[in-house]
Amino acid sequence: MAKRLMGKPVVEALAREIGAHGQVLAERGIAPGLALVRVGERPDDLSYERTAEKRACALGVQVKKTVLPEDAAQDAIEAAIRSVNEDAAVHGCLMFRPLPSGIDEQAVCDALATEKDIDGVSSAALASVFMDRDLGFAPCTAAACMKLLDFYDVALEGAHVVVVGRSLVIGKPIAMMLLRRNATVTLCHSRTADLPAVMRGADIVVCATGRPRMFKAECFSAGQTVLDVGINFDDEGNLCGDVDFDEVEPIVAAITPVPGGIGSVTTSVLMAHTVEAAVRKLDA
Ligand code: NDP
Repeated sequence: MAKRLMGKPVVEALAREIGAHGQVLAERGIAPGLALVRVGERPDDLSYERTAEKRACALGVQVKKTVLPEDAAQDAIEAAIRSVNEDAAVHGCLMFRPLPSGIDEQAVCDALATEKDIDGVSSAALASVFMDRDLGFAPCTAAACMKLLDFYDVALEGAHVVVVGRSLVIGKPIAMMLLRRNATVTLCHSRTADLPAVMRGADIVVCATGRPRMFKAECFSAGQTVLDVGINFDDEGNLCGDVDFDEVEPIVAAITPVPGGIGSVTTSVLMAHTVEAAVRKLDA
């Protein structure tokens, strides 16, 4: 049986780090502030918003919510982002995505000040990840994967990591973050030839495709560490990852479960980035 790489101890370690930073800020009379910007009432956004508010409350992060109607115009959404930029009490901003169709989402993301872009959505923040520079913050889910790998002391230098999925939210940024740590990275996608063979050859596999339980025993080999980033629902409405956990757990050395793995770390990383943004502002 594989070791289960649970998110909870990573979350607890992050809470200790956040607490230490929070104390430094409190001594200077600063409360870290997180802006949540939502357009419309998508159930996914509402659920993420509730989780973020709960976690923020537990960690002493002040939340400021801006809610715009589903039919909000581009100008109105960008104006809301500019208000966040100008609000001195806000150190970080999470904007729920995707935005409604017809909205130029990248233009909205690029309106956000880099120093407040704690989820790495702007071109500047992403460029900083791709250039190995720490000018902004990496996307929270990619950063959560790195936190989890480090927490469990998974050796990255020289390791062959196969990342399946090439989105700007997870696949591409985590590939860059792993390269920076001297891993050898293969970035796969829906057109990769003989994907199971490529996956079997890896030391570490990161699955981020959004395909419920698609990766079965044939894709894995003994000794591997598997990070399942997928948050999916199967036909019966059960939450599951991209990996068929029951088939794969007996084969590999270590694996993140869904739920209870990466997903639970992502919200904590959001809070850690908010607090770090407040500290960076103080230092500046
Ligand atoms: P996207 O839909 O943006 O990207 C999916 C990627 O998977 C694409 O690059 C696509 O390839 C690839 N892909 C799709 N089907 C296959 C296939 N059959 N074989 C190989 N590759 C395939 O998804 P996201 O990156 O936004 O999200 C991925 C998953 O992560 C989802 O389940 C999402 O819910 C979850 N997620 C989890 C978070 C967390 O905190 N744990 C946060 C955010 C998302 P191609 O480019 O060729 O189309």
